Amino acid sequence: MRDTWPQLAKIPFPALARRRITTLQVNVGYRCNQSCVHCHVAAGPHRTEQMGADVIDLVLAVLERRRIPTLDITGGAPELNPHFRALVRRARAMSVRVMDRCNLTILDVPGQEDLGEFLAREQVEITASMPCYLEDNVDQQRGKGVFHASLRALQRLNALGYGVAGSDLVLNLVYNPQGPSLPPGQAELEADYKRILGERYGIAFNHLYTLANMPIQRFGAILISKHAFDRYLTLLRDAHRDENLDGVMCRDLISVDWRGLLYDCDFNQMLDLPALGADGRPLQISDLLNTDPAGNPIRVAGHCYGCTAGQGSSCGGALREAAE
Ligand code: SF4
Ligand code: SF4
Repeated sequence: MRDTWPQLAKIPFPALARRRITTLQVNVGYRCNQSCVHCHVAAGPHRTEQMGADVIDLVLAVLERRRIPTLDITGGAPELNPHFRALVRRARAMSVRVMDRCNLTILDVPGQEDLGEFLAREQVEITASMPCYLEDNVDQQRGKGVFHASLRALQRLNALGYGVAGSDLVLNLVYNPQGPSLPPGQAELEADYKRILGERYGIAFNHLYTLANMPIQRFGAILISKHAFDRYLTLLRDAHRDENLDGVMCRDLISVDWRGLLYDCDFNQMLDLPALGADGRPLQISDLLNTDPAGNPIRVAGHCYGCTAGQGSSCGGALREAAE
């Protein structure tokens, strides 16, 4: 896979500094039951990296010590980590809000038959990828049969109370474009998703988040192989809005990899750019027991325009309404 970092590193981006951590985003490993074209972590069934019980213990200790209100669990398919359920249970026992970045098809994987019930019992918020409401587009991006498997999973989650009116079980969907373009307006697309998924399949959900594709990993390599990398970076840079800088996720979130190394965000994790302490040393999860990184500079470069272009992108979707 062609690495995009040499090109991204040369592109300047405005300086950013951290605020207090309100979300600990934990990547528990790169194993996944899918191998999507746009995957920014290049996850797949053959990846073996997984967070062990020792690092999970440190994650829980940091949540408690720093009083971090939200744990955002990602992967790969995070549910495939053998410690996933223990992590969720222990965080919920501390009243931490837990989010699971779920690919939906994982609910069909043998051994995960009771996953929906488990997540509902623990009141875990589900953030699920659903790149389109049309079968061909989803299957092209995420693999054959993924669209219908995703619909089945959404219907099962709805039956458990996820995403339906009057329930406090939260089910959010994530959209990203098929190719090198900016996402459309989040509010308009959410309305279309709600109408079409509701009318055709009886599916309900809370919110749709729109995210731009990051020019890194598998998607970055495709851009390079199609000679579209520079064009996509120009598109992102031309659409940059300074007012989005305040809301980018790295200001309030810190990302942990399966080994316990810290990064300013999941994208920097994939670019192998660890967060640095005041002495220039890469930070580890254990450092958060004694050190507050608030005020530390964030490692920015050309890929960061993926977060500030147009409506902006964060793990909670667009940062502002679409421009008129
Ligand atoms: S489901 Fe998510 S983690 Fe898995 S390959 Fe697709 S994008 Fe990557
Ligand atoms: S990619 Fe986005 S979240 Fe990550 S450091 Fe850059 S601006 Fe922050």
